[in-house]
Amino acid sequence: MTQAQGQAESGLAARLSAIDHRIADAARLAGRDPGEITRIVVTKFHPSSLVRELHSLGVRDVGENRQQELSSKTAELDDLDLRWHFIGQAQTNKASAIRRSADAVHSVDRDRLADALHRAAEGDDILDVLVQVNLTDDAGRGGVEPDDARSLAEHILALPSLRLRGVMAVAPLDEEPASAFARLRTIAERVREVEPTADWISAGMTGDFVAAIDAGATHLRIGSAITGPRPDRG
Ligand SMILES: *Cc1c(COP(=O)(O)O)cnc(C)c1O
Repeated sequence: MTQAQGQAESGLAARLSAIDHRIADAARLAGRDPGEITRIVVTKFHPSSLVRELHSLGVRDVGENRQQELSSKTAELDDLDLRWHFIGQAQTNKASAIRRSADAVHSVDRDRLADALHRAAEGDDILDVLVQVNLTDDAGRGGVEPDDARSLAEHILALPSLRLRGVMAVAPLDEEPASAFARLRTIAERVREVEPTADWISAGMTGDFVAAIDAGATHLRIGSAITGPRPDRG
């Protein structure tokens, strides 16, 4: 290993541990048990070697937002016990590739995508899915409209190869994350009325994970604060 590689590595370890301390502090301040919060490291645009390094530091939950990158990384890292979370907008014709590689899909935002993921089931495997909710005023963004979250949840419940785990959202750029995440919490309660075990709330990124913890997030999706800046998307 070169000296530069060694330094990059210890930088990664230091950033990971700093974020985990901030998560634990925020949880305690919110009166929550840090152990009930899963920190997913979002590794998009970073090479598989970085994911391998994260694994050696104890990371087990990783997130990707593009199907091709998910598929190639899961193939390269097949020897590692990682849980792969798909968090990006998904095209219906990619559903079966996503299903083959992901352990959980956070971004189910329409009936047709749920149907396609269900049709892609092989054998009796069960896929964890979350309803992605659009918290912005822009209907073109990913996510179902808040008023439609419950009916999408009901649709998913009728598909036996999918297990509804909860809701996911990204905070809008033009609103305080705390108020956006408060709305998400209300939507999560509505979804739990139709499926009481669907208690995941996937929310919180580098810039807003403390607000998400305050609002009850169970799954944080943190990228750049841990990995460092993303390499050029090319
Ligand atoms: C990239 C991404 C993240 C992580 O973003 P950071 O700001 O780097 O922490 C979280 N969620 C989704 C859906 C993403 O695409």
